[in-house]
Amino acid sequence: MNDSINATHDPALRSWVTSANAADTDFPIQNLPFGRFRRVGSAEAFRIGVAIGDQALDLKAAGLIATDEMNALMAMGAAERQALRAAISEGLREGSPSQSAWLSALLPQSGLEMTLPCRIGDYTDFYTGIHHATTVGKLFRPDAPLLPNYKWVPIGYHGRASSIGVSGQSFPRPLGQTKGPNEDVPVLRPSHRLDYELELGVFVGQGNALGDRLTMEQVEAHAFGMVLLNDWSARDVQAWEYQPLGPFLAKNFATTISPWIVTMEALAPFRTPFVRPEGDPQPLPYLDSAGNRQQGGIDVELEVWLQTLAMRDAGQGPERLSQSSFRDAYWTVAQMITHHTINGCNLQPGDLLGSGTQSGARPEQAGSLLELSSGGKNPLTLANGETRTFLEDGDSVILRGHCVRAGFRRIGFGDCQGRVLPARS
Ligand code: MN
Repeated sequence: MNDSINATHDPALRSWVTSANAADTDFPIQNLPFGRFRRVGSAEAFRIGVAIGDQALDLKAAGLIATDEMNALMAMGAAERQALRAAISEGLREGSPSQSAWLSALLPQSGLEMTLPCRIGDYTDFYTGIHHATTVGKLFRPDAPLLPNYKWVPIGYHGRASSIGVSGQSFPRPLGQTKGPNEDVPVLRPSHRLDYELELGVFVGQGNALGDRLTMEQVEAHAFGMVLLNDWSARDVQAWEYQPLGPFLAKNFATTISPWIVTMEALAPFRTPFVRPEGDPQPLPYLDSAGNRQQGGIDVELEVWLQTLAMRDAGQGPERLSQSSFRDAYWTVAQMITHHTINGCNLQPGDLLGSGTQSGARPEQAGSLLELSSGGKNPLTLANGETRTFLEDGDSVILRGHCVRAGFRRIGFGDCQGRVLPARS
């Protein structure tokens, strides 16, 4: 694997951007995630920068890059990427001679409008959360919750890139064909079982030519980084439409991602072994490697928070609904990418791969309301007395993620927030 620990991960590093030294910041100098932004209210072109504490460093203004195209940065080789990370890290360190020159390239994040971090050509959503797959499978097919292919194939479907938005996105409740259990024919109406899905997104860096495939040994260098991803889902539409070809209009009305791409280099200290549970089949040889077994997993702690309209009106902050970790995923990032290219399918810089809903083993660790409410049968009661089976108009869902490991600096992803508006009439 290429993602080794180096001087940029040193937990003792401090930045001359003092907010980056706060213990609870998502963006210490050990993180350095990439995003695109401009000043709020301006008509400037979006530029590329890294988050550092509560600031953002404009990389072109700092003389570190010559492009405004994130996809061009993503197409760089691993060595070039690591050199850029090292240069940013050195320049932001306490005592760096770059400080005086870079001060003018620093912008407060509170004054920025974030946009999608890159041009997303294609979007594929996987299904690597086995606890989610089992629980949801039970609701849809009590007799056969986990289909026989699950432990052999990293299951996925091709999603829609055009409706992916960045944190802060709001969208009207989608309309769709739904058919209730007591109805003879379907009706076109606003979804009344609107849900979120707690996922991570993987951005592809260097691509592969059509016909070529990436091996497990090569593939880590082709992952650029990760974001939080909310795969909003209309469960009633999904239940009626999903057979036999899988998700379609139940999923493609909106997908929200966090604005800062946390690079695979930043995630290097948080890798975990890939281990199959006792009695489960080992992956086929093309999905296996020594590196994957040693450190194919990534321990990203994930959280879902909900803020209802009533909570916002009362000045109450969001309430946490659940927690889980990406270390529990059944398939790794390397296996997702390798499998995607095994038939010769070409991935391109900026392509986005969703992880599938990340639910933990325990019911309260579920990454969707479908699971938390047992298919809408058991409403959740919130601290203010409101109840939820699925999302109501005005609900705001916030995904958060962070990585913690003894001997390393905590890093985080920033918020991935989206809001449900009333359906259009
Ligand atoms: Mn999904």
